[in-house]
Amino acid sequence: RNNAEKFEFQAEVSRLMDIIINSLYSNKDIFLRELISNASDALDKIRFLSLTDKEILGEGDNTKLEIMIKLDKENKVLSIRDRGIGMTKEDLIKNLGTIAKSGTSAFVEKMQTGGDLNLIGQFGVGFYSVYLVADYVEVISKHNDDKQYVWESKADGAFAISEDTWNEPLGRGTEIRLHLRDEAKEYLDESKLKELVKKYSEFINFPIYLWASKEVDVEVPADEDESSEEEETTEATSSEEEETEEDGEKKPKVKTAKETTYEWELLNDVKAIWLRSPKEVTDEEYTKFYQSLAKDFSDGKPLAWSHFTAEGDVEFKAVLFVPPKAPHDLYESYYNSNKSNLKLYVRRVFISDEFDELLPKYLSFLMGLVDSDTLPLNVSREMLQQHSSLKTIKKKLIRKALDMIRKIAEEDPDESSNKDSSESEEVADQTDEKKGSYAKFWNEFGKSIKLGIIEDAQNRNRLAKLLRFESSKSEGKLTSLDQYISRMRPGQKDIFYITGTNKEQLEKSPFLEKLTKKNYEVIFFTDPVDEYLMQYLMDYEDKKFQNVSKEGLNIGKDSKGKELKETFKELTKWWKDALSAENVDSVKISNRLDNTPCVVVTSKYGWSANMEKIMQSQTL
Ligand code: ADP
Ligand code: MG
Repeated sequence: RNNAEKFEFQAEVSRLMDIIINSLYSNKDIFLRELISNASDALDKIRFLSLTDKEILGEGDNTKLEIMIKLDKENKVLSIRDRGIGMTKEDLIKNLGTIAKSGTSAFVEKMQTGGDLNLIGQFGVGFYSVYLVADYVEVISKHNDDKQYVWESKADGAFAISEDTWNEPLGRGTEIRLHLRDEAKEYLDESKLKELVKKYSEFINFPIYLWASKEVDVEVPADEDESSEEEETTEATSSEEEETEEDGEKKPKVKTAKETTYEWELLNDVKAIWLRSPKEVTDEEYTKFYQSLAKDFSDGKPLAWSHFTAEGDVEFKAVLFVPPKAPHDLYESYYNSNKSNLKLYVRRVFISDEFDELLPKYLSFLMGLVDSDTLPLNVSREMLQQHSSLKTIKKKLIRKALDMIRKIAEEDPDESSNKDSSESEEVADQTDEKKGSYAKFWNEFGKSIKLGIIEDAQNRNRLAKLLRFESSKSEGKLTSLDQYISRMRPGQKDIFYITGTNKEQLEKSPFLEKLTKKNYEVIFFTDPVDEYLMQYLMDYEDKKFQNVSKEGLNIGKDSKGKELKETFKELTKWWKDALSAENVDSVKISNRLDNTPCVVVTSKYGWSANMEKIMQSQTL
C-alpha cells in the first residue's frame, strides 16, 4: 500500500517466524486457539477497565463482548474478530514484531532442539503461530485512543502499518485476517472450525460465534402448471410476500425449498467450571481446564488438583493445579519477578493474573484461579491489592496447596508409611484431589518446597513434612523426615545429616564411619540450596538437626573418653599450637571416627566445608 510505514521484525522474532513457516509440524490447528486466547485476553482487559469506567465500552454492538469467526471461501480468508481492547498504532508496532518478549529466544532455542510447538502459548509468542497456516496476515485494530490501523506481513522479515481508510470501521477491537496457504484449505471448512473451537476453547469465558451456513426450508409459491408434488431444490428462491388472503378463500399453493442462509452460530457454552460442584466435574474436564489455563496442550496431565469453596468472612472458590512439569523459567528470575500463575476473578469477572499477593513466591509454580465474591468489583487494581481479604485468601490457599501436595505423597505407591491424618479445620466444603507420583513432583518442584521452608516460617513444619532426600539407609530411594524418625536408633536424639556435592562423595566421608558402624542413619543433602535450608530448619518434631561434620555430634558416651583425653593431652596441645589459632579453634579427642585418624570439623555456628565451597563458587 502506498503510504504504509515499513518496519523490520526484531531479529529473534524474525527467526521465530522462519521456524514457524518452515515447520513441517502436523498439528497446525493450534493457531486458532492462540488467536481465540488473544481475543479473550483483549476482552478481559476491556471488561476490567469498564468496571471503573462505564463509558469505555461505548454503545450498541461495541458493548457486546464477543468473538466472531468468519470464512471467505472464495478468497481463502479466515478472519477472527473480537470487541476487545484493541491496539493503538504503537501497540501494533511493539506487540507484533519490534519488541521480542522474554520467552522469544527461549522458544527459538527449544524449537531448534526439537521442542514442542504446542507450548508456543507459554512463551508469549502465540500470535506468530498464524504463519503455520497463512502466508499473509492482516491485523486490523481499533483502540479507543487511536484511529483504526492495519498491520500486515508476509513474514518476510518486515511488516507494514497503515491507517485504515478502506475497511469497515470496527468500532473497537481487532480483526485478524488469515490468507490461508493452499495446504491449509481445511480451515475453510465450517465443521473443522467448530470441532477445533470445541476441542481447544472450551473454557473461554466469552461467546464465540461462527458465521455459519444453514440449510433452511422456505416456502415458495408452487408453479401452477406443475404437480404439487414436493421436491427438494437446492436453488434458493427469495420468498416474496404472499398475497394476503381473505377468510375462507383458497390458499395459494406453496412448496418447500432448501435455501442456504448464514447466521451467527454460538459454538461454546460459557460456563465457569469452578462454579460447578466438584462432584460433577470429571477428571477429563479438570485436565482440559488445566491445559487451557497453562496453555499446555502437549498431553500434560496435572499431577494433582484441588477444587474448593471457602466460606466465612471471606468467600471464594478456587481451583489449584500442580503442573506435570516446571515451566521453563520457574527459578530463572525467582527473586526479581512476581510472576504468578493464579488468575483472580471477582464475581466471574477476570481481574488479573499478576496478583502476587495471592500466593507466596515459592508456590508460584501452581496454576489455577480464585473467584471471590467478597472482594469489591469497582475499584482499581491498586486498591484491590491492599484489600484486607487478600491476606485471608492467601492463608487459605497456602493451606489447601500444601494439603494437596501432601496427598500426592500419601497416594503415591512408592511412598507410604506416614499416614498421620491430622486434618486441621476444614475451610472448604468440598475437595477433590487426584493422585500422582510424588517422586515426579519432587523432581520438578522439590526446590520450591525447600525455598518455602526458608521463606515461610509459619508453614515450616508442614513444608518439612514434604521434604524428600536420600540417606545412608534409603537405598537409592527418596525418604522423608517422618520415615527417618521411625528408623531412629534407641536413645538417638538428633537427626543426623551431612552436606556435599553428591551422594557418592558423601558415602565415603570419614564423618560417616562410626555412625554407619553403629547403625545410625545419616541424611545426604546434595543440593546447594540445602545449606541455606538447614540454616532455617532447626528442628522437626522436637528433634534437632545435627550436621555430622560439625562440632557437637553426640552418639553416646565413650567410657574411655576421659582417660583418652588425659593420655593425649600433650599431643592435642602440640597440634593446636602447631596449626595456630587462626587456623583451628581447638584440637580434640573424638569418638566419631573409626578408621580415619583425624578429620577437620566445623564449629557449631561456622560454615560447613560444603558451604565454604558454595560461597566460593558464587564469588568467583
Ligand atoms: P501473549 O498473548 O502471550 O502476550 P501473543 O504472541 O499471543 O502473546 O500476543 C502478543 C501480544 O499482541 C499480546 O500480548 C497483545 O498485547 C497483542 N495482541 C494480540 N492479539 C490481540 C488482540 N486480539 N487484541 C488486542 N491485542 C492483541
Ligand atoms: Mg497469546
